[in-house]
Amino acid sequence: MSRGLLTIDLGAIVRNWRKLCAIHASGAVAGVVKANAYGLGAGPVATALRDAGCRHFFVAQPREGIALRKVLGPEPMIAVLGGFPRARRHGLTPVLNSLEELRAHQGQAILQVDTGMSRLGLDASELESLARDPSPLEGTELLYVMTHLAAADEPGHPLNAVQADRFAEACLKLPRARRSFANSSGIFLGGRYASDLARPGCALYGINPTPGKPNPMEPVVRLEVPVLQLRTIAAGQTVGYGGTWMAARPSRIATIAAGYADGLPRAIDGRAKGVIRGKAVPMVGRVSMDLITLDVTDAPGAAVGDLVEIIGPAQDADALARICGTIGYEILTSLGNRYERRYLPA
Ligand SMILES: *Cc1c(COP(=O)(O)O)cnc(C)c1O
Repeated sequence: MSRGLLTIDLGAIVRNWRKLCAIHASGAVAGVVKANAYGLGAGPVATALRDAGCRHFFVAQPREGIALRKVLGPEPMIAVLGGFPRARRHGLTPVLNSLEELRAHQGQAILQVDTGMSRLGLDASELESLARDPSPLEGTELLYVMTHLAAADEPGHPLNAVQADRFAEACLKLPRARRSFANSSGIFLGGRYASDLARPGCALYGINPTPGKPNPMEPVVRLEVPVLQLRTIAAGQTVGYGGTWMAARPSRIATIAAGYADGLPRAIDGRAKGVIRGKAVPMVGRVSMDLITLDVTDAPGAAVGDLVEIIGPAQDADALARICGTIGYEILTSLGNRYERRYLPA
């Protein structure tokens, strides 16, 4: 094998969804499958969730929705977070983000109100205007009124309560409709953050929705990358671009078949690890475009063709993210298309 193997456990995704359903008992739980299901494959992921009973899906862009409709068939709701008016065709449910979009739309839709992200959705003045003059709502069947939490991953953040208040106020100004509120982390806030439809993404994919606490979700992703070559270098010899790492002793260096073009950030810069034959070994030197080097001196059995685990139980996407100052979401969505992908069935 000459490229990495990305194993995606669809059974774990389904179990994570069921767990979120049990916690969010007040309402339904959608599957957010934007950006190709956070890089893991929207087709297989959404199919597994649909077969498990998930009836609501969210994507970011119309073209994602069009592709997903072909995969899922006519039944489930596929909501498009941005990109009206294109989103209203192809049996997709548009998320309307302004009065102008609301006026232009006829039929079923979700209306988004902005309660603190300052990103998409009706602002306070548009809500006031709609309360005075509800005519833009004519011809629109509001399936849900939704808003998006900005800081749900920090339960103590004051913005959470502010957003809950603003969302409650906004709903009073609108016709009675079902509500959609929490993302993954919001589900774990419970209470006021429960609604008729939660919209988790990251937690389905095994990212910790409760940072700082043990991860309540099951791991989903394993990335293993084969050793292309092994060499012995003398003490004092350097490894990789810029010669940034120097061997302090005679060392065995393994070069593996993935790099920053495969979504393993260059910013890792020798601070992550791999697991080879059950032994954790440090990455050394810079991450190249297609290659990473590890010091396997202390894993004497290492051989060409061995798979080195880069994402797995010993170092999950969140851990890798922390090393280089990003979040697990960005690690997953960056993994790219050069890996062989294997799906474990649901
Ligand atoms: C991405 C997104 C979600 C899912 O968020 P997670 O933090 O991954 O659970 C939910 N709602 C909206 C509007 C989003 O953009």
